[in-house]
Amino acid sequence: MKITRITVYHVDLPLEHPYWLSGGRLKFEVLDATLVKIETDAGITGWGEGTPWGHTYVPAHGPGIRAGIETMAPFVLGLDPRHVLDVERAMDLALPGHLYAKSPIDMACWDIAGQAADLPIADLMGGGSRTPRPIASSVGAKDIEETRAVIDRYRARGYVAHSVKIGGDTTRDIARIRDVENLRHDGEIVLYDVNRGWTRQQALRVMSACEDLKVMFEQPCESLDDIAAIAGKHASPVSVDESLVTLQDATRIARDGLAEIFGIKLNRVGGLTKAARMRDVALAHGIDMFVMATGGSVLADTEALHLAATIPDANCHAVWACQDMLTVDIAGGRGPRNIDGHLHLPETPGLGVQPDEDRLGDPAAVYT
Ligand code: MG
Repeated sequence: MKITRITVYHVDLPLEHPYWLSGGRLKFEVLDATLVKIETDAGITGWGEGTPWGHTYVPAHGPGIRAGIETMAPFVLGLDPRHVLDVERAMDLALPGHLYAKSPIDMACWDIAGQAADLPIADLMGGGSRTPRPIASSVGAKDIEETRAVIDRYRARGYVAHSVKIGGDTTRDIARIRDVENLRHDGEIVLYDVNRGWTRQQALRVMSACEDLKVMFEQPCESLDDIAAIAGKHASPVSVDESLVTLQDATRIARDGLAEIFGIKLNRVGGLTKAARMRDVALAHGIDMFVMATGGSVLADTEALHLAATIPDANCHAVWACQDMLTVDIAGGRGPRNIDGHLHLPETPGLGVQPDEDRLGDPAAVYT
């Protein structure tokens, strides 16, 4: 089987509500999505998606995905998409780094490989759990009242897991954490996501002020050096996501004991092939996981769900469904959707969901 054509679409995905990170420092309203269709000489078509969370969040850039694919496409055309490692090496040789530009191609190849094997991607990767995965909300809010309102909006849709964005003024952060914990329902999973918003000193101030609550913090500081510097000075479990980009990051975090949880974002780490290695590092070191798309449509959510299904139930805290934050649906309601706050693995071979191509507009590029 050979890759014969790569078609690239650019789609804007507006957010239903303006979204604030780092206590209001960063605002997001529209996501720049790249959808990739890979065709083969066997008549099997695969779909991939790469949707960074805006341009200001981390070094990942929507137009950069399309530019990266332009550079990599000549090296990927003609390869067997079922040989995902060959495709990965070809992309890494053609364009070192730029992992976020590679994930849509990797995803489309896994979609094709699954269809060719007549297996959902998770089963092709070695076996997928059918235990529905809780969906974590994404609570971007600035104050206590707005935080309560956003969490209640998610609870009304069945959500039992919440990622509450903090990382601004530390006094306000402490007040918001205490309020959320005070109103927390039995069995709810809550992660406090700082998104790198604190200095080392600010992190230690909030973590020690909230030590009695025994809550999880995600990415409290900018870098792994910062997280290493405060490790041992606080008692809170830490998740790392923005600083978990490469396999070398994963091995450093595991070896040096910098986190108890990996937040694996498929687009950021370069797709399923690379993320599966991080999963194995985590499992080998007693590290639990959240698995998410960086953003995007139901396609991106489904890719993350497949990886989550390959993680033992006890080690996978939650996934994310960015689709619930968008005003457009490029797949007409198909694919895994929120059922009582959970996503269910599709049984269809491959990814298990395709977009409506006529909702994507004209292609941004076609490579043959
Ligand atoms: Mg995060």
